[in-house]
Amino acid sequence: MASKRARLIFIDGVGRTGGAILHFQWDGKGFLFDVGLDLATSGRLLTGGLRPRFSHGIDDHLKLNLLPTVEGLWRDDLMLDAEIYEDAKAFDIRGVILTHDHGDHGGGLFAVAPTIPIHCTSISAAMLLVNSVCGSGLSSETVSVVQRAPHPTEEGILHKPSGAGRLFRQVLTTDGQPSPNLCAMWPTTGPGVGLGRSDLTVAGMDFKTFCVDHSLLGACGVVVEVPNGDAFAHLGDLRRTGSQGEMTERFVRYLVKIGVRAMVIEGTRLGRENDEKNVTEEECAARIRGIVRGADKRLIIANCGGRHIERVKAFLEAAACSNRTLLVPYRLMMLMEAVGAANKKFDLTDVGPLGIYDPPIGSRPRWMQDLRERRANMLVSPREVRAAEHKYILLSNFGTTVDWLDLSPHGALFIYSNSAAYSDDARGRLRGLGEWTRRYGMSTAGIRFRGSTFDVDSSLNPSGHLHPRELASIIKRIKPEILIPCHTTHPEMFAEFVPTGTKLVLPENLKPIRF
Ligand SMILES: [Zn+2]
Repeated sequence: MASKRARLIFIDGVGRTGGAILHFQWDGKGFLFDVGLDLATSGRLLTGGLRPRFSHGIDDHLKLNLLPTVEGLWRDDLMLDAEIYEDAKAFDIRGVILTHDHGDHGGGLFAVAPTIPIHCTSISAAMLLVNSVCGSGLSSETVSVVQRAPHPTEEGILHKPSGAGRLFRQVLTTDGQPSPNLCAMWPTTGPGVGLGRSDLTVAGMDFKTFCVDHSLLGACGVVVEVPNGDAFAHLGDLRRTGSQGEMTERFVRYLVKIGVRAMVIEGTRLGRENDEKNVTEEECAARIRGIVRGADKRLIIANCGGRHIERVKAFLEAAACSNRTLLVPYRLMMLMEAVGAANKKFDLTDVGPLGIYDPPIGSRPRWMQDLRERRANMLVSPREVRAAEHKYILLSNFGTTVDWLDLSPHGALFIYSNSAAYSDDARGRLRGLGEWTRRYGMSTAGIRFRGSTFDVDSSLNPSGHLHPRELASIIKRIKPEILIPCHTTHPEMFAEFVPTGTKLVLPENLKPIRF
C-alpha cells in the first residue's frame, strides 16, 4: 500500500562532494533530483586516458559504481551483463529535476531511459544541447538517443546498427516557455518530444525552481509542494558571491516566508574553510583586469574551464580594457550562442572584442563548419596570433592545451582562473598544466606550480559554493524542521549549525528518510 508520508532516499552520493542521486516519493509515485556521475571515484580510478568503455554500454559505469545500479532508470539498450542487476533496487521514476549541468549532477543523463522527462532551466537545457551537438558517442546523448544493439559477431559489446532510429528526450524548461531562439537550435520539436515547457508537476507533485548563483549558469534550487501541505526544498549547488547572488538571496527569502518542513543543503566547503578566501566574482574580475593590463606585450593564455560563462565575461572585459581580443575555442562559442539564445541577458557573443581560435583541423564536424561560416569574420588562426601576441588573450581549457604547440608560447603569461579543484581528476589535470607552463617558460597567475605540486590562488579562483559562515546564516534564517546535508565529505559538521527546533538527519545511502 502506498504511504501517505513523503519519502526521500539518497540512492547514492552520501559522504562525498557530488554525484548524489536523490529519489523523492509520495503515494508510490516518485522522481529524481539529478543524475550525476561519481567524479570522486572516477578521479581515483580513471586517470590518464582511462575511460569507461562505452562499447560496453553502461556496464563499466555500474561495475565501478560511477552510476548506481537502479531498476527503472537506465536505458535498456545499454545493459549487457544481467548479473549486475540481480540485486538492483527498483524505484518509481517519472521524471528528473536537474539542478544544474555540472558532471556530478547531470553527467549520467545520457544513460537515462528516454521516456523519462528532464525538467531544468532554459540555460541548463542549452548546455544539454551543446553537449549533444558538439560531443560524440554515448555521453553526448543528452538530448536524443540512438538505440544500441548487441554486436552481431563480438561477444559482450554493443554497436549502433545501421539505420538505427533517433529518439528524442523530453527536455522541459522550468523557467517559462523556452525562447524561440533556443527552439530554433533544437533538433526537433513537437508534442511530447524535444524541447518544451514544464508544467511544473512531476509524479503528481507541484514544484518550483529558483535560479541561484553558482559557478555554472542555469543552476537552480527546487521547492516541492508535498500534497500534505509540507514544503520540501533542495538547494542544489549555490553561493552568494557571484553576479547572481541576489537570486540566491531571493530564494532564501522565499523559503523563510513559506516555512520548510525538510531541506537538503550542500556542504562542499565544510572542512576546507581555512584553505580558501571568500572571494566574489567581482573581486576576481577586477584582479583579472589588473593582471591583463600588466602583461605588457606578452601573449596571455587563460584557463577558466570550458563552461564558466561568468568568468569568460570577466576575461572579455579585461580584453576590452587592454585592447586585446579574447579568443575562445569553437565549443565555447557554441555554448555562448546557446546560452544567449536561452536567455538574452547572458548573451556575450556581441558585446566585446571576441574571436574564435581557428587552428587547422583535417576534418571538421558539421556543427563546426556551420559555426565557421556563421562567424567567418571572427576566426583567428595560430599564425595571426603568433604575429601579434600582444593583441590576444587565448582561452584554453584542459582539452585544448595541445593547441599551444601551434603557438610556441615561450615566455607567455598563463592565468588560471577557475574554481577550487575538488576532485583528484581536476588535480591531476592541473599537474599536467604545470608541465606545459614549464616547457614554455611561462609565468603564471592564479596558480603556482612547485615540482609536482601546485598552489591555487583563491583570489583568482572563487568557489562556486557557500562559505560555511553563509551556510550557517542561511540555515538559521530558513530554520527547516528537518535538515539533510548533501554534497559534502563532512555531513557531521552541520551539527554546529542546527538551530533550536531543527532536527539534523544525516543521510545514508538507500536508507529512507520519511516525513
Ligand atoms: Zn555544481
